[in-house]
Amino acid sequence: MDSPRYFDYASTTPVDPVVLESMMPYFSEVFGNAGSGQHYFGWQAHDAVEQARKQIATYFNAHSSQVLFTSGATESNNLAIIGFLAKLTPAHVITSSIEHKAVLEVFKHLETLGWEVTYLKPTAQGEISLDIVREAILPGQTKLISLMWVNNELGTINPIHPIADLCVKHGIVFHTDATQAIGKLAIHQGSLPDLISFSGHKIYSPKGIGGLIIKKGIQLHAQLLGGGQERNMRSGTLAVQQIVALGTSFLRLPVYLAQMDRLKIFQKSIEHRLTTHFLGKLQLNGNTLNRVPHIINITLMDVDWENMFRVMPKIAISNGSACNARKQLASHVLMALGHREANALSTLRISLSHLTTEADINFLEEYLIEKIGLMYSA
Ligand SMILES: *Cc1c(COP(=O)(O)O)cnc(C)c1O
Repeated sequence: MDSPRYFDYASTTPVDPVVLESMMPYFSEVFGNAGSGQHYFGWQAHDAVEQARKQIATYFNAHSSQVLFTSGATESNNLAIIGFLAKLTPAHVITSSIEHKAVLEVFKHLETLGWEVTYLKPTAQGEISLDIVREAILPGQTKLISLMWVNNELGTINPIHPIADLCVKHGIVFHTDATQAIGKLAIHQGSLPDLISFSGHKIYSPKGIGGLIIKKGIQLHAQLLGGGQERNMRSGTLAVQQIVALGTSFLRLPVYLAQMDRLKIFQKSIEHRLTTHFLGKLQLNGNTLNRVPHIINITLMDVDWENMFRVMPKIAISNGSACNARKQLASHVLMALGHREANALSTLRISLSHLTTEADINFLEEYLIEKIGLMYSA
């Protein structure tokens, strides 16, 4: 069998060759510990880390000191939320019911510590509106709001800039998980949140590196104790080669972004072909007018989902977030949109990349028409 074609870039991406090349010297030639301030080897590593920090800071119009390196978005989310609230008397916090598990589980943990958590319900299209956020704020009581920029299953975009303004007005710290927004949309058209999480392996860096942008003046309570790296907020020897890679990925973002118009055409084409071919049987999830171009989410209404992925071995697609895939749990995001469990399970998430070609899309469309056709005739 030809190797399967990959349409699961929202789960992870391959390392960009330019990124790989940039990190190579830091495995063996420049191998110093960035914390070794006494000698040349340490200085070299330190300089490489600081250059990457600057590359990332520039993207966010931030100062280098605001960039903190972590192992990925999961750790960034944990550190941002728990690290900020750690020293406060439990009060009220707000998130949504369609966050990634790396945020949802943190809020569940906060509940056990005595925090009152409001889980905002999305619209039927999977958005968190400014009004619903405003109504949930308890003046004086609400200490933090965490809302994802782009939903990883639906691709829908939340109104992060106006919510950031609202939080400033109320003196509430605002965190966003921007993992699926970086490199997919321009994030600079308004105020930014106080805390921004992102991950390397969703933007063509290796797995195991991520970051957090921290507004000046905010000190996070460390979750890892040790040598006091990263301004005492995240101990551990810096992963120099991963950090260099992440810096290069940020330099490369315009290259990826320039392909988004092409992906939008692919997105439209796939949806149009499938929905017209299977008239009345498929449901598109998310807001098709307000989303990133690389994610498509389609429910096959009333099919037997048990064999769904087994009949499609030549393509790699998912039915939601990768973390759920092995357990075959119904997606909490689709359930929050009001889907029945069976329909949530018979849902396909297709995610694209600047690497996706027209030939890939032609293959995907024909293949899905054939395989979905089999499922409906079974
Ligand atoms: C992939 C993803 C994460 C997890 O990132 P890791 O770097 O793998 O920990 C968190 N949030 C969103 C929205 C994601 O898509």
